[in-house]
Amino acid sequence: DDLGSDVEIEAEIDEEAEDDLLGGLLIDSTGEIEVPDRLVDQVIGQEHARDVVMKAAKQRRHVMMIGSPGTGKSMLAKAMSELLPPEELQDVLVYHNPDDGNNPKVRTVPAGKGEQIVEAHKEEARKRNQMRTFLMWIIIAVVLGYALLAIGNILIGIIAAGIIYLAFRYSSRGSDAMIPNLLVNNADTKTAPFEDATGAHAGALLGDVRHDPFQSGGMETPSHDRVEAGGIHKANKGVLFVDEINTLDIRSQQKLMTAIQEGAFSITGQSERSSGAMVQTEPVPTDFVMVAAGNLDAMENMHPALRSRIKGYGYEVYMDDTIEDTPEMRRKYARFVAQEVAKDGRLPEFEAEAIEEVILEARRRAGRKDHLTLKLRNLGGLVRVSGDIARGEGADRVTRDHVLQAKGRSRSIEQQLADDYIERRKDYELQVAEGFQVGRVNGLAVMGEDSGIMLPVMAEVTPSQGPGQVIATGQLQEMAEEAVQNVSAIIKKFSDEDITEQDIHIQFVQTGQQGVDGDSASITVATAVISALENVGVDQSLAMTGSLSVRGDVLPVGGVTHKIEAAAKSGCDRVIIPKANEQDVMIEDEYEEMIEIIPVSHISEVLDYALEGEAEKDSLVDRLKNITGSALEKAGEG
Ligand code: ADP
Repeated sequence: DDLGSDVEIEAEIDEEAEDDLLGGLLIDSTGEIEVPDRLVDQVIGQEHARDVVMKAAKQRRHVMMIGSPGTGKSMLAKAMSELLPPEELQDVLVYHNPDDGNNPKVRTVPAGKGEQIVEAHKEEARKRNQMRTFLMWIIIAVVLGYALLAIGNILIGIIAAGIIYLAFRYSSRGSDAMIPNLLVNNADTKTAPFEDATGAHAGALLGDVRHDPFQSGGMETPSHDRVEAGGIHKANKGVLFVDEINTLDIRSQQKLMTAIQEGAFSITGQSERSSGAMVQTEPVPTDFVMVAAGNLDAMENMHPALRSRIKGYGYEVYMDDTIEDTPEMRRKYARFVAQEVAKDGRLPEFEAEAIEEVILEARRRAGRKDHLTLKLRNLGGLVRVSGDIARGEGADRVTRDHVLQAKGRSRSIEQQLADDYIERRKDYELQVAEGFQVGRVNGLAVMGEDSGIMLPVMAEVTPSQGPGQVIATGQLQEMAEEAVQNVSAIIKKFSDEDITEQDIHIQFVQTGQQGVDGDSASITVATAVISALENVGVDQSLAMTGSLSVRGDVLPVGGVTHKIEAAAKSGCDRVIIPKANEQDVMIEDEYEEMIEIIPVSHISEVLDYALEGEAEKDSLVDRLKNITGSALEKAGEG
């Protein structure tokens, strides 16, 4: 068996030009790139998960996939269904049970047989009905004839004929009850089923029996005809995929586990007050392979027994968020664009330059040096928006310019919110991006996954009544305390002020935003506190992000690219980032000229750039520079 990773692109490659964006692919457009037939061969990266899926398909094991959204979990689950043997597929029929109408019988037959059986029953019922109808008309004719000839009263004849007609109609309903209900039909299925039960309610997952408003009097629908299959039954011999497994209610998780253990699960009405709840079928086969997915928390909140069931009888894999940027990988990304175009079916082919722009974006979104993002659902979104723009213009190819336009449009909700937020704050002049101010620093934070916002921090120092306290707003209290603690060792060393006798108030201006992470704000807090303590102004045209160690080292943080862009959009001229993050910077061209990026590795450099006034600043910075790890340890002892 060849692994998907070995499926090379069948196009000419210029070995000399491997370092360019297309990895040396000699093509004019995506039209020249062949898309592999098997889904498993279309998967980009995720080599480990792909190997596991291939192995698990062979062994019919369950798989738990942990990872970020849009990295290919459902794609792999679907790919797995293509790898399962389709010969084993079955149809499931539900029959009326003459001994107990509320306990329909269940029969399993090879795929394709189900339709034939139902047809045969229908044919038989039709013949029987024809016979009956024929008989009925004969009797009616005889009665009418008798009434006319013998009694001489046609009215009595018509009334009698009417009664006979209704009696036949009524009793013929009974014969429909003999036709089985084809619950699961795999007649036209070429590959093993793939059922996505993500977010399914109990009925859709476990099956249901419809309510019958006419429960008697000859109008009722026989109970076996009201039975509906759930995802677990439709997935029989195939794959049941459940993403965000933890959001499934606990009862459903328990039942899912029973279905996995028993390989069969009876169907009953899910709504307790409906007449369907009285019906319970014989067990219906649920011999599926389960692919459960989610992020890390999903695992923690998942029913422990279900998790151990999957773990004990299957595999757990992690999905990668990024992959190393090699020429071969970039060629695969070119094929990814071709795949997305083929999948959509309406998009024009992409020109080579347009593909290059998508690959550049994959680099930029990786947020990591020499890597490409594997959050390919979003990248696929960019491909579609680019294609739609081209289509809107009536262009027959997607060009680089279309992709550039699309980048502006395919912004995530968080990005749009962040932009809107920056705009509104500009209106209210909450944003300060010029002059100097004591105790106020423009910090930066990440919102959602892919956008940054400027988050100013204000610090004020007041003499304390008791022992000095750090007072911060909201959920950032802990982070603020930690940042102050780290910086206090440093401050102790050089400042005349004794911060243990002061209250330090820290305010995060407008933290009403959801999903703002405070972790990376510690150099911001430190700078604000030092500025407030020493009464020295901070440059407001500067923004910063970075974490701080007790030794005054500036440590790397996440999301630098988005943060830098947010600083630029907010009107800042300069932005301080940790030196260790320098390689993660992949800002868009439009921002490159708007803002100067200053990588730093020690808090003394931060203050050097941020604080006002040469003289005071110099002495502060000098004092800070002398602080080394060993000096601090001594300070700590003393
Ligand atoms: P998940 O289940 O992890 O949220 P999906 O499998 O639904 O993500 O991915 C959505 C779409 O994004 C896929 O249908 C495919 O077009 C694209 N995609 C995601 N990951 C990959 C990948 N690793 N290789 C190729 N395409 C991918």
